[in-house]
Amino acid sequence: MSDTLTIEPDLETEARVRADDRAHVFHSWSAQALIDPLPVAAGEGSTFWDYQGNAYLDFSSQLVNLNLGHQHPDLVRAIQDQAGRLATIQPSMANDVRGELARRIAEVAPGDLNKVFFTNGGADANENAVRMARAVTGKRKVLSMYRSYHGNTTTAISLTGDPRRWANEPGDGSVAHFFGPYPYRSPFHSTTPEEEAQRALEHLEQVIVLEGASTIAAIILESIVGTNGVLVPPPGYLQGVRELCDRFGIVFIADEVMVGFGRVGEWFAVDRFGVTPDLITFAKGVNSGYVPLGGVVISDRIASHFDTVAFPGGLTYSGHPLACAAGVATFEVFERDGILERVRDLGTRVVEPRLREIAANHASVGDVRGAGLFWAIELVKSTETREPLVPFNAAGADAAPVAAVAAACKKAGVWPFTHFNRLHVAPPLVIAEDELRHGLDVIDRALEVADEYA
Ligand code: PLP
Repeated sequence: MSDTLTIEPDLETEARVRADDRAHVFHSWSAQALIDPLPVAAGEGSTFWDYQGNAYLDFSSQLVNLNLGHQHPDLVRAIQDQAGRLATIQPSMANDVRGELARRIAEVAPGDLNKVFFTNGGADANENAVRMARAVTGKRKVLSMYRSYHGNTTTAISLTGDPRRWANEPGDGSVAHFFGPYPYRSPFHSTTPEEEAQRALEHLEQVIVLEGASTIAAIILESIVGTNGVLVPPPGYLQGVRELCDRFGIVFIADEVMVGFGRVGEWFAVDRFGVTPDLITFAKGVNSGYVPLGGVVISDRIASHFDTVAFPGGLTYSGHPLACAAGVATFEVFERDGILERVRDLGTRVVEPRLREIAANHASVGDVRGAGLFWAIELVKSTETREPLVPFNAAGADAAPVAAVAAACKKAGVWPFTHFNRLHVAPPLVIAEDELRHGLDVIDRALEVADEYA
């Protein structure tokens, strides 16, 4: 926790913040009268504070975007300097930080992914990646996974393979879903990761054939599935998807909005698998969300299609200088402070062994899985039957067991990320080792609450 910052209780301001919020802020994904958003007073590093002076270790990195933590001085300074120099410039003019950030992204991106189209976030990155694939192939349909999230604009929510899509249907009519690998709950009844990869690829091939390769512009998938379970693909799977895309003339889009920029100890998660997609979408970690930014990294083959044909898309704030300045500073911090190495080290030396211990301590823990500083603890009623601790898409009273675990974490000063029957461990990549160990200890104790339901 921060040694420098102490937040004195300020109940008057808290009441005002809460009143304005309740009266006038319309919140995402929520029944407005049923939520009670925490008024937040300040943040520093891996910690944020409420107005009562309570500190919370941010084990969710906000929405898994705060890779360099709250108020990183280098990022704040870069934004301030840029604001003093040139606060905004429209996208059809060339700009120094925009160009530098694009170059630095291209330098770390795999293969021939050498150009960047900047967006305001992840959903519009996916929206535009699909648009590129459709323009280049002249085909329209896109395949995406069940158990995925790709954002909340029309095509992105249609691609999404979780209940957030349901109320938004019909959206983009040219989307079909397939099952990806999920070794703990194999849709293919496989018993080993290798078998899971092979059967998932056979399934995908059948979907391609039945949907019609001549109609399919792109396959989009999260390189490591994020909100829907931190599902790390088994060895061979992403290589197999690459091969299917090549064989059937389909554009391969890797959505790295959540896992790109260091979350799993690589610039891009596809680097773990040695796979080069045609397009990579990113957002969040590119500048820790200090100023909204996302984008598409584009292969030479796809970029060159638009050499003499206009790309039919654009955004007023594409490559906004304040956002790009924070992105360039992110690269400098990553390189100077060895962030990728530290994530790999903390993941394998601290998080994985401690989570395995936690799994052994609790009757309610069915599976732990992940990579780097991105892990899921899957909660079950019984480790034998693997029945989820709360039902799929649970809300209200049905979701109570997981809500109780989250409440126990918060009471002990750790802010967790929960989704259905899972608790995710996704702290800022700059978290100190003692903070990380402390947060995992808190989770270990909080899971006693889950054991009562197991
Ligand atoms: N893709 C993935 C994998 C995500 O996790 C998210 C957001 O969580 C998005 C896309 C959408 O990004 P945004 O909320 O910036 O539009």
